[in-house]
Amino acid sequence: MPLLDLPPWLLSLLLAPFGLILGSFGNVLIHRLPQEEPADRDVVLRASHCPSCKAQIKPWHNVPLLGWLWLRGKCAACGWRIPVRYPLVELLVGLLFAVSPWIFPFGTLIWFKGLLCGYALLVLFFTDFTEMILPDVLQFPLMALGVLFTLPQLQWPETLVKVWTESNHLLQVLAWHNGLQPAPAYPGFEPAVTWQQSLLGMAVGYGVPALVNQAYKLVRKTDGLGMGDFKMLAWLGAFWGWAPMLGVLFLGAGLGAAVGVPLMLMRRSNGQTMLPFGCFLALATPVVVFFGRALWLGYLGLTM
Ligand SMILES: [Zn+2]
Repeated sequence: MPLLDLPPWLLSLLLAPFGLILGSFGNVLIHRLPQEEPADRDVVLRASHCPSCKAQIKPWHNVPLLGWLWLRGKCAACGWRIPVRYPLVELLVGLLFAVSPWIFPFGTLIWFKGLLCGYALLVLFFTDFTEMILPDVLQFPLMALGVLFTLPQLQWPETLVKVWTESNHLLQVLAWHNGLQPAPAYPGFEPAVTWQQSLLGMAVGYGVPALVNQAYKLVRKTDGLGMGDFKMLAWLGAFWGWAPMLGVLFLGAGLGAAVGVPLMLMRRSNGQTMLPFGCFLALATPVVVFFGRALWLGYLGLTM
């Protein structure tokens, strides 16, 4: 496969435009999926329109980044200020695609998995941040995909692809490897996430809190927990295995407390302040995926 032999900088240039376009689609998902009306949630058939005046957006105003700059951040029809979130999401997804071949070897399963996870986290961060919603329609398919990603290695354990190392050497790596080792180094890959770890990650992430919630419902007759957060933990568990998922939960909770407690003290609120916990889980995930092992070993070193 000659395309896989291209050096990372060239791959970056080729991937960035796809990232910008998917970033633009990400904005559609972020805006429409949390809507109440089922018709408003359609992300495929409805043409882009201004959320304020409903005017249809002209194709050349819809070009990622450039459209927003050209319009100086205002709707062409009604002058509504287009939130900075729109170009920001396009830029972030563009960057995600551009840096992906530097982080994970292009064309491998771990590359695709990392890219998909990063994209999903960006979209969920903003739906949770703006509407406090983590849409099921994204999170259930992500759970299934996380488990599916562990299957090819069972069928074809030895499939090799060529990738570039940092020192411009071509290296052969396992195509279906879905371990956690990020690229530029790729000297030794971490063991792959097995289907058992993936299923267990999903079960612990969702099943346990769901049972607790069910018990709570029986006793108090109301929903106790925001289940969206646990569905997010479930698909992260399916993607990266149960241990990193728990790392994401603890780091996310720590980040949430670090932001939430001062905020509550400042506002003197009565514990009613709602924090978008999914945002903290999204921030914690890359830290755990890339540095989880190092952090864990450091922690063990401190305590032993
Ligand atoms: Zn408008």
